[in-house]
Amino acid sequence: RATLGVLGGGQLGRMFVHAAQRLGYFTAVLDPDAQSPAGLVSHHHIQTDYHDPAGLAQLAELSQAITTEFENVPAQALQALALTRPVAPGAAVVGIAQNRIEEKAHFAACADLAGVSCAPYAVIETPAQLQAVQAERAELLPGILKTARLGYDGKGQVRVQNAAELAAAWAELGGVACVLEKMLPLMAECSVLVARGWDGQVVSFAPQRNVHVDGILAVTHAYEGNMPPALADRAREAAVSIAQHLGYVGVLCVEFFVVDDGSAQGGLVVNEMAPRPHNSGHYTLDACDASQFDLQVYTLAGLPLPEPRQHSPAIMLNLLGDVWLNAGGGQREPDWRSVLSLPGTHLHLYGKAQARPGRKMGHLTITGPDVARVKAVARRAAGLLGLPGLDDL
Ligand code: ATP
Ligand code: MG
Ligand code: MG
Repeated sequence: RATLGVLGGGQLGRMFVHAAQRLGYFTAVLDPDAQSPAGLVSHHHIQTDYHDPAGLAQLAELSQAITTEFENVPAQALQALALTRPVAPGAAVVGIAQNRIEEKAHFAACADLAGVSCAPYAVIETPAQLQAVQAERAELLPGILKTARLGYDGKGQVRVQNAAELAAAWAELGGVACVLEKMLPLMAECSVLVARGWDGQVVSFAPQRNVHVDGILAVTHAYEGNMPPALADRAREAAVSIAQHLGYVGVLCVEFFVVDDGSAQGGLVVNEMAPRPHNSGHYTLDACDASQFDLQVYTLAGLPLPEPRQHSPAIMLNLLGDVWLNAGGGQREPDWRSVLSLPGTHLHLYGKAQARPGRKMGHLTITGPDVARVKAVARRAAGLLGLPGLDDL
């Protein structure tokens, strides 16, 4: 039997492994953690560092083709693997997505194609650039200073009101390469999942609307009417253009802001992209006839890509460690029996032993025959678990 390889053993890797196994593949996971969610369920688990040449050689030896689930996988690891095996997405595009400066340059380069731009921004890599921004780019304040690399879930970001706060924030972030983005008046946020094969075939999902709490995804709304149809169409076209422009192979998620520009619907601004399946696409497991992880497997294996069809409206609630901690200092499990007695609830737990605040431990997807019933169950489930982010329901 053929084996598909994945760099990284988190929950995204675990759900990739499940999808690959359903099609009869063996899987090989490379992750240093003996208890990694994907390593625990994979046929092969190479328990070593992403830089370890012997481990990478073993992964290549075992695998027919290799993907990644871990955003900050070292580019050298992907390059080393690509010498002997198909790797998707490739080191070059992953490198772009890992660096906000390159990522924004790429968005700017395809602005014509996509018709959507990113937030006004400036690059700050040197004290001279900091001073120039302070002196000449007052329009970027108030803004958000974001490290160019290694940020996620709102980490590595500081909100700044004025030039003095900007200087302090840059020092606080260690004077590393950053971008300063203008703070935009957000009406909503959404994301689009695109899958593109080796032969250029592209399929995509309709945009899902996302609610973040404290910089972390809390709720995803995936149903018709979750956002104005004209904006949804544009976001989807923009995401497909971005994937095509990159020559991307695999599953790509592009995040967008809906910004208050005075119009009734708002304007569309591209935020960032993730070179892998995405938390906001987890509802596809239960609400669509092909999930984002199925498409990751199909793209990697070089199989034809089915145009995914959503068969149920859905709301996804992220389950962070806080839910466990609130349920009794981490000593007790949350009340799953009550949650699962609600109709249309699909509980996914990632097999992580230790609950910590903000740690992604699982998610709950609610599907149903219509949006009203999905919302009603989501509200009740959120109430039982003490989950935030559903105020607008
Ligand atoms: P992820 O976990 O999605 O990778 P991240 O740490 O890379 O997140 P961003 O997506 O850049 O961070 O920002 C996190 C959140 O902060 C956004 O989803 C949005 O709610 C808010 N935000 C970021 N940039 C801006 C902006 N320019 N104006 C207003 N809000 C913003
Ligand atoms: Mg990000
Ligand atoms: Mg983001």
